[in-house]
Amino acid sequence: MRFDTLLGNDRLKQNLAQSLTKNHISHFYLISGPRGSGKKTLAKLMAQAILCQGHSKPCGRCDACRKLLSGNHPDYITVEDPEHKNVAVKIVRQFREDVFIRPNESDYKIYLFPQDLGVEGQNALLKILEEPPKYGVFFLLTDNPEKILPTVRSRCTELKMQALPEETLQSFLAARFPDASPEAVAAAAVRSGGFLGQALELLESGGAVPPQTEDLIRALTEKDPLLLTQTLTPMEKWKRDALSEILQSWLALTEEALSLRSGVQALSPLSRTLGQSRTAAELYDISRSLKKALEYTGANVSPAAVCGWLTWALR
Ligand SMILES: [Zn+2]
Repeated sequence: MRFDTLLGNDRLKQNLAQSLTKNHISHFYLISGPRGSGKKTLAKLMAQAILCQGHSKPCGRCDACRKLLSGNHPDYITVEDPEHKNVAVKIVRQFREDVFIRPNESDYKIYLFPQDLGVEGQNALLKILEEPPKYGVFFLLTDNPEKILPTVRSRCTELKMQALPEETLQSFLAARFPDASPEAVAAAAVRSGGFLGQALELLESGGAVPPQTEDLIRALTEKDPLLLTQTLTPMEKWKRDALSEILQSWLALTEEALSLRSGVQALSPLSRTLGQSRTAAELYDISRSLKKALEYTGANVSPAAVCGWLTWALR
């Protein structure tokens, strides 16, 4: 069993290889982990291992492997709804009918749900969960297993993606981006929280920083309340996910600036500037306000109210 294309996650890969070799295949897998943690890569590898006709599965050479890798295997089906945040119930119902049509050319029919289903969609799935067809294997992917109903979750084998060890991630990135400076590679590894997809995004965008982040750091460094208001007011119209993402990156920058105080080398120039302009107590207050704003965003407070509150809190 070879899962080399998925970086890190050694224990998970070992356990899966063992159970797949013994042909212990669950009907339902719940794969959880942050954005860029390899959930899709793992699901695809497992599907390949299950459908592969070679000896050392997944062999990568047999007909089934080749079809799967080129996205043309008729028994590997992705259920998604790119136009909506959650998959529409209508689409889940269509899928439910498709499940009872036997596989085309293998012993299994594998479904991937890369997107959240929402409560209604999960309820529509319950019938399948209670009595899945013998040949059915289902991969549910989520960044937060708490969003999954207990009745659904209890029927799934849970697989949790792990952050990569710093050395593993850094050496992979250095090989992939030979022209990037060691500082940029190290910064991307730290800022990604150990998740390859996010580190790749950072390096591919040249480590580009959103203009709002630069403005915020300048407002905080120069103690400029007008710039602070000008930065946060347009963000009142942002979507919750985008707001939460940028708040997280601001919190990471502030924490990096704080670690500068304890003698740790701050990696990004922005956190260095911030760290040099404010006292540790002030930085601590900023990070506390950002954490609160993140909590509010996660607790369904509107982005407008969060930005308004944060403008007041950071003054
Ligand atoms: Zn194969």
